Amino acid sequence: MNLTEHFTLDELTASQIAARRRIDNTAGPAVVENLRRVAAVLEQVRAAVGRPITVSSGYRCPALNTAVGGARDSAHLQGLAADINVSGMAPKDLARTIIAAGIQFDQLIYEGTWVHIGLAAGKLRGQVLTATFTQGGVVYSAGIA
Ligand SMILES: [Zn+2]
Repeated sequence: MNLTEHFTLDELTASQIAARRRIDNTAGPAVVENLRRVAAVLEQVRAAVGRPITVSSGYRCPALNTAVGGARDSAHLQGLAADINVSGMAPKDLARTIIAAGIQFDQLIYEGTWVHIGLAAGKLRGQVLTATFTQGGVVYSAGIA
């Protein structure tokens, strides 16, 4: 099922880890509606960069979110976030392009090897963070480092 012109429900729910661990990551109707909002934002990102977007993680059911070590309150749990890459483009440049294009988001996190873009049920905060992975866990700092 297509959510928007270039994004399908499948690619926003697919997960290698879910497949490997036999986790059923099927999205319910409310999650599908949220994923449609995310897909609409991804269309804006696609238009801004002029290239296809690769989604590595969209919706995560609780079991999958736990399996990947996702944050307890992760927007992925509501189908309100996507982790994305663009082939041939550094994630930092992708993050900067999204910001420069004025695309509205709740959270944009530059995670080193991918970009997390999240929405929210309520007001969008437009928060920009950089995630640094340390032995003690993930540390977030404001802005794109
Ligand atoms: Zn994410």
